Amino acid sequence: MIKRSFFTLSKPKLHYSLIEPGYKEPESIPVPSDLILLLNESIDNKKEMLLKKDQAVEKGEKLSMYEDSSEYVVCPVSGKITDIDIYSDSMGKVSTSLIIKKEQIQSSDSPSTAYDLTEDAACADRFLRNLPGAPPLRAFANSSAKVDTIVITGADSDLSCCTCQYVALNYIDKINAGAKILKQITKAGKICMTIPEQLHYPEGPDMAQVIRTSMVYPSNQPAMILKDHLGMVLPAGQTPEDLGVYFISPEAVVSLANAYETQTAGFEKIVTIIGKQGLVSCVKATIGTPLKKIFDTFGIQINEQDRIIIGGPMQGVTTFTQDHPVQADTDTVIIQDREIIPELSDNACVNCGRCVQICPASIPVNLLVRYLEADHYEEAADKFDLESCIECGLCAYACLARIPLFQYIKLGKHELLKLRADA
Ligand code: SF4
Ligand code: SF4
Repeated sequence: MIKRSFFTLSKPKLHYSLIEPGYKEPESIPVPSDLILLLNESIDNKKEMLLKKDQAVEKGEKLSMYEDSSEYVVCPVSGKITDIDIYSDSMGKVSTSLIIKKEQIQSSDSPSTAYDLTEDAACADRFLRNLPGAPPLRAFANSSAKVDTIVITGADSDLSCCTCQYVALNYIDKINAGAKILKQITKAGKICMTIPEQLHYPEGPDMAQVIRTSMVYPSNQPAMILKDHLGMVLPAGQTPEDLGVYFISPEAVVSLANAYETQTAGFEKIVTIIGKQGLVSCVKATIGTPLKKIFDTFGIQINEQDRIIIGGPMQGVTTFTQDHPVQADTDTVIIQDREIIPELSDNACVNCGRCVQICPASIPVNLLVRYLEADHYEEAADKFDLESCIECGLCAYACLARIPLFQYIKLGKHELLKLRADA
């Protein structure tokens, strides 16, 4: 297998956005009457399900499908389950959706189930995995995990997004408190926080060393932070966690601080919304809120063939439905008008070389994609470095033939994992 390093970076020309000076407070979206929770487990008809239609549920209650499930979601409202169904995402990954009808008399301030939280990773993971920002508590709770460094991502990793910057600027005290808890539960040797180099940031948290990151995309990608600021090269097929480095959003750190202070879970997620005209807004929405409720609040009309993207413009994935819910890790949602969606094609590669020039991991993308198009995933990994890809999306952005390179790469990695799991 080829193991490439990132020492031969070319010079991409896209720049991150800074949060606007004088930015507005995020608009709060009212808690809808029906929320949709996604459980990362598929329905198994051979097992007896613990969750039933019409079952009453409490705010803050953990919901698992089976006795032996390790997956759970935490219910953001009191009410009852009105539907349980199969849910498939755009990569074909199957999970389960629960529709929760909120009790009518409930206000968003109604009390949540209290937990008895102790400052250890296993306890945090038992109750707080779905906090806004999705802290990587499962990884911390893994007994073989070695946590050397935690990086709080105050610099958003995709273009046009500002959720992380907003939280990093506005919740320094909470970030300090959350970082203290993180240190306690993980015993991490070092905690740092990335901040865009051009962001006016008067005072960093005491608990974390501030790293100023370049405005040039994809400098805020984990592999680039490792290389540029922590002096590490991420080997092909490995994750930062394999090197003892864990990335966590500032929102997750704030959520942890709040959870330990109140002994309850929070449910309000901050999301950057990028509308059809490119207007950027921030909202606070309860986890489980269908995106349609947010679009209605902003008067955004979704027409046939418009595109809804979960995530930023370079790394986001398209969803097929306005009912897709806000989840613990939903930082950004983009709505693209059908008129401006860049056309993709099944044209053949014209060998212009632009993808190879722009790739920060020096992958021969033009050759790689031929193997991916032919479903030769193992060869794509062994001969053309599929697993060195840091998923920045620059190759697809640059492609003269408009080949959906990024989709091929994502699908290729997904299929490779499946093949290896089956083997
Ligand atoms: S997404 Fe494309 S440009 Fe980015 S690292 Fe992967 S192959 Fe290279
Ligand atoms: S950018 Fe597109 S057309 Fe050009 S070499 Fe790469 S895959 Fe081929």
